[in-house]
Amino acid sequence: MDDFEALADLCDREDLWLHADGAYGGFFSLTDDGREKLSGLDRCDSITVDPHKGLFLPYGTGAVLMRDGDALARAHSVEADYIPDWEPESGTVDFSQLGPELSRDFRGLRVWLPLKMHGIDAFRDTLAEKLELANQVADCLRNIDDVKLVAEPQLSILAFRVEPEGIEGEDLDELNQRVLEEINARNRIYLSGTTLNGRFAIRICVLSFRTHREHLADGLEDIEAVVSEVTE
Ligand SMILES: *Cc1c(COP(=O)(O)O)cnc(C)c1O
Repeated sequence: MDDFEALADLCDREDLWLHADGAYGGFFSLTDDGREKLSGLDRCDSITVDPHKGLFLPYGTGAVLMRDGDALARAHSVEADYIPDWEPESGTVDFSQLGPELSRDFRGLRVWLPLKMHGIDAFRDTLAEKLELANQVADCLRNIDDVKLVAEPQLSILAFRVEPEGIEGEDLDELNQRVLEEINARNRIYLSGTTLNGRFAIRICVLSFRTHREHLADGLEDIEAVVSEVTE
């Protein structure tokens, strides 16, 4: 994660707009741990958050939070004789004046209803569980021979690489791609890949409300089995 305090200081000094891409991470600020790590996020002018990630809601439920809503109206409001007038002072919100869409889905309902039904604590607790699970997985991976944690979890994402002695460079990348495919082929967990400092790494992202300790235990079993197969 970027250092929001430092960025906010810079933007204050230079009179710049500060936007944070909190699509994945933003909602972790509901948790104590996340709030500490995301310190300074509240100083941004705008923040993207994805309820379809951090609130576990259906895809297509993205959001942007703006400190100054008028800035959105300045960017997006359109006038045409056939568009009904909107009085910003009326207390109502006309989303067609605040974004690129005129006819639009009522996406807010998908966020409002689960929050009303379950309360914010249910989401807070579930996010805290994901942070804890990511830390536990990281601890377990550290103890597997030939496995190196190459990105510690800042929130609920981490990355590791299998690094058997004597294998380097592209051979190591290929080995890790094979490890990733074989873990996923076991069909119990789904991991993805990424590149860190030019080298392929296997990425774990814990962010489903259905992912609990037992699923990660299954996943670790598969990781260990595949790693011992390829390093034999
Ligand atoms: C997921 C993600 C996006 C893309 O958001 P969509 O909602 O999938 O369009 C952008 N930035 C970050 C950091 C993300 O995690």
